[in-house]
Amino acid sequence: MDVTDNRVKVWIDQDLCTGDGICTDHAPEVFTILEDGIAYCKEDGHVFSDPGGAAELALVPVSSEAEVVAAANECPGECIFVEFVSVATLEAGRTPELSEPR
Ligand code: SF4
Repeated sequence: MDVTDNRVKVWIDQDLCTGDGICTDHAPEVFTILEDGIAYCKEDGHVFSDPGGAAELALVPVSSEAEVVAAANECPGECIFVEFVSVATLEAGRTPELSEPR
């Protein structure tokens, strides 16, 4: 399978987030920090905060994929989880299996 056959989805374990904002510095279109001082993912402007965590994976714009991976690599809480999902899976509406972080 070619890498272009995959898209990136991302979620944050809010229980581990330190709120330092490294993720929002890298990809403000994908990450945001709410009033509770914790980071959440967003997709097309919708913030996944109810409940957040692994229950809500945001589809990352292709133009932001490298920044999201960089944020995951630098996250001090090690709480940004990146999933590579095949386009075929997305088109079929299936939920990917969760894998280990990074
Ligand atoms: S980089 Fe990680 S620890 Fe820092 S605010 Fe973002 S998710 Fe939280």
